[in-house]
Amino acid sequence: MTRVERVQEQLKKNGLDALLVTSQYNLRYVSNFTGTAGLSIITKDKAFFVTDFRYTEQAAEQAQGFEIIKNTGLIYEEVVRIAEQENVTKLGFEETHMTVSVFERLDELVGCELVPASGLVEELREVKDAKEIETIQKAVEITEAAYTHILDYIQPGMTEIQVANELDFHMRGLGASGVSFETIVASGKRSAMPHGVASEKVIEQGDMITIDFGCYYNGYVSDMTRTFAIGDPGEKMKEIYQIVLDAQLKVGEAAKAGMSGIELDAVARDYITEKGYGKAFGHSTGHGIGLEVHEGPNVSFRSEKRFVPGNVITNEPGIYLPGIGGVRIEDDLVITEEGNKNLMTVSKELIIL
Ligand code: ZN
Ligand code: ZN
Repeated sequence: MTRVERVQEQLKKNGLDALLVTSQYNLRYVSNFTGTAGLSIITKDKAFFVTDFRYTEQAAEQAQGFEIIKNTGLIYEEVVRIAEQENVTKLGFEETHMTVSVFERLDELVGCELVPASGLVEELREVKDAKEIETIQKAVEITEAAYTHILDYIQPGMTEIQVANELDFHMRGLGASGVSFETIVASGKRSAMPHGVASEKVIEQGDMITIDFGCYYNGYVSDMTRTFAIGDPGEKMKEIYQIVLDAQLKVGEAAKAGMSGIELDAVARDYITEKGYGKAFGHSTGHGIGLEVHEGPNVSFRSEKRFVPGNVITNEPGIYLPGIGGVRIEDDLVITEEGNKNLMTVSKELIIL
């Protein structure tokens, strides 16, 4: 079944005549269009792609099977016209990807009911096909190569920003089109901040360093964290490193189809709590990745959703001690019928440079 057909199946389930796709990522998912301006309307039996003169040629090439429409006036006037032409009475729209002003204008012009339908395409995106998994694997390989490179490169006296720049630059050199989010390099006491983006801080002997980073490759992301030390980080940090590593390995062993986000999160959380650091693990164990670095399904104590084969999730428990330091270790896993496949291969044993 094509992606358009899967959307059409969802239209029926949700009692919609058509879906207006405005999220850039969803647009890419349904149509393969990689440009930045355009929208799509998928009806029960047709698919339209509307864009302006800058992108019509690209859309015709990429959005196979779509009727390409060039808008000369306002793009939403075409939406109104298509809705009328196709006798749409219930038009789903992506309320989390539309400004209030566009919504009000569209609602005024269009002669049908607008129904919030965010999440419809996102739901389909959660289950990756073989090609998508292969692409994420490639993004992971680039990320791992950059990590291996940085272990050789990093020296006391460098700033965190210098290290982050080198990681980003190295990934681009290996074919990445960009970073999947702003690279985190948090050293010494700063490693207690789970999302401390690289700063001017100078890396010192004895620092524990957490790097959390990833890249975009052919539209798909990787997301990886490793924590390592330059010189002896001290007993406390070694203790929490081992606890985080054991928790992370337990999640890696447990993750499988049929398990819920709550259940998998509990594997890491219960273990870390048992070791006395439950309060120092403030975030969820993982999240889905794909076209975006945060998508479903979540590995969280709030997520009842059960995993299915084809989900790609992160496994990233951590412990953060304010004023001392922190540890996080993150891999990317593909849920399979039997269990899961870890897309990452580089060692997780504590490295002391
Ligand atoms: Zn990460
Ligand atoms: Zn992550």
